[in-house]
Amino acid sequence: MTAALIDGKAHAAALRADVAAGVTRLGRAPGLAVVLVGDDPASGVYVRAKGKACREAGMASFEHRLPAETTQDALLALVRRLNADPAVDGILVQLPLPDHINPDAVIATIDPDKDVDGFHPVNVGRLASGLHGFVPCTPLGCLMLLKDTLGDLSGLEAVVVGRSNIVGKPMAQLLLGANATVTVAHSKSRDLPALCRRADILVAAVGRPGMIRGDWVKPGATVIDVGINRVEGGLVGDVAYDEVAAHAAHITPVPGGVGPMTIACLLRNTLTSAERRRMKEAA
Ligand code: NDP
Repeated sequence: MTAALIDGKAHAAALRADVAAGVTRLGRAPGLAVVLVGDDPASGVYVRAKGKACREAGMASFEHRLPAETTQDALLALVRRLNADPAVDGILVQLPLPDHINPDAVIATIDPDKDVDGFHPVNVGRLASGLHGFVPCTPLGCLMLLKDTLGDLSGLEAVVVGRSNIVGKPMAQLLLGANATVTVAHSKSRDLPALCRRADILVAAVGRPGMIRGDWVKPGATVIDVGINRVEGGLVGDVAYDEVAAHAAHITPVPGGVGPMTIACLLRNTLTSAERRRMKEAA
């Protein structure tokens, strides 16, 4: 078997076009504030990409670039100002933050109803309880790719490798919400290859280049590779692509798989925030 490619770029382009149409229907530009502290080059690239994607979807992008020595109090004061600013529908503080700033304190200060990254404990609780909130963008994008590829996920065996708050845990919650039977594996799991071989849906979110090998994958499985690893020669995922593509039915490439969906879902969440505010104002 040679797996069919899940084209994240094409899915993301379609989602971004949907969002742009939603912005036109809304009749005003939803605003996304992105805060970057320090000069980490990778974070700078992400922030620029988010701003550009916003503008292309007809949204307003507010970039706040602060020096690395910004105090936690000053950052919290900025977040509070953005919470109160009616032009801002979504707030994103780019991680990682410098060591002297506690990311949990910053995330907890963001208004949960503007927390388009879905990291605030209130949104984590809403997701776990099946309530409307904001879902972290990367796992949300993975779920969309899975539903577009497989349709109904009910009863399928899903294995998520990785249990971070940003990817693994919310991914597991989303799959559970979609009625899959979910196993979450991590660095202390025993016999990871055997766990992975059970999966109809295998999501790798580990950060180890090529860790998932071909003989870990059940024939016909759908494999979502969240990993982004910089190695000599470019970017690779957590999945040994060529080996795994020989077993799987569907697979996301790296780059061009999950990555493009993440920013598209950020736009989706920002539009959702603006739509919810409009409904609240009308009520
Ligand atoms: P974290 O480092 O926060 O989490 C990694 C997880 O992998 C942990 O739960 C860890 O287990 C687990 N793990 C590590 N080693 C092993 C192992 N040998 N066997 C089994 N599990 C293991 O990473 P993130 O979740 O933030 O990111 C994961 C990957 O996804 C990275 O490559 C990152 O760059 C990428 N990423 C991509 C995004 C995109 O837009 N496409 C967005 C976000 C991340 P334990 O908890 O026990 O330590």
